[in-house]
Amino acid sequence: MGYLPGGAAIDYAEGAVENVPAERPTVLVVEDERHIRELVCLHLGLEHMACVEAGDGHMALELARSRRFDLIVLDLMLPGLDGITVCRAIRRESRNSDVPILMLTAKLEESDKVVGLDSGADDYVTKPFGVRELMARVRALLRRTARPEEAAGERPLTYRHISLDSARRRVMVDGADVELTSQEFQLLHVLLSHPGIVFSREALLGKIWGTDTFVTVRSVDTLVKRLRKKIEANPAEPSVILTVWGTGYKAADV
Ligand code: CA
Repeated sequence: MGYLPGGAAIDYAEGAVENVPAERPTVLVVEDERHIRELVCLHLGLEHMACVEAGDGHMALELARSRRFDLIVLDLMLPGLDGITVCRAIRRESRNSDVPILMLTAKLEESDKVVGLDSGADDYVTKPFGVRELMARVRALLRRTARPEEAAGERPLTYRHISLDSARRRVMVDGADVELTSQEFQLLHVLLSHPGIVFSREALLGKIWGTDTFVTVRSVDTLVKRLRKKIEANPAEPSVILTVWGTGYKAADV
């Protein structure tokens, strides 16, 4: 590792390039295809974000263990360690266990997307992707983690058999830790903070994805389904997150 005047660092190892002034959001971009990696970094740079590049999964994991990032863009198909394995390892054992992860996938099958999201990714973009869409999702993920109402110090929330600790971004169901993606966590947080209040799909979409993304209200249904699998005793007959037909969703009154 070499250091430039002004604090920027350069890692001379092949595939790892750093140029990281302080204060800017720093994004780890994990992609073995160099032209895609460089394209993503170019556009992150244009939006005043700093970029750290990794060309394979091992390097990505090493970087994620050694320092904090504000966001990780992670390719699914990587030589050596694949994106799913890297994603799980980051969630489990790195300093970035709560970092937003945006997965890049070349696969179109819904099952692959679900696997990606179940492994702990927060969102995905299917290749070939438009730069505009990618950047909109990056901004949405960064905005979400910067939300002041989720700042440290908020008291843990207890609702029936569920406890939710925003400061530690931790959820326990029946006393056992449950791993949620950022989106699942946010959905649960919104609903449990307002038991009995009905939220329309559009309202939830805005709260969770922000305004300038390309997701539809159906994504809310998919997200609810995934969350129910993780927190409901019987996801087919939910008792915590209830569907309000024709409107949206609510947490059952305590
Ligand atoms: Ca790849």
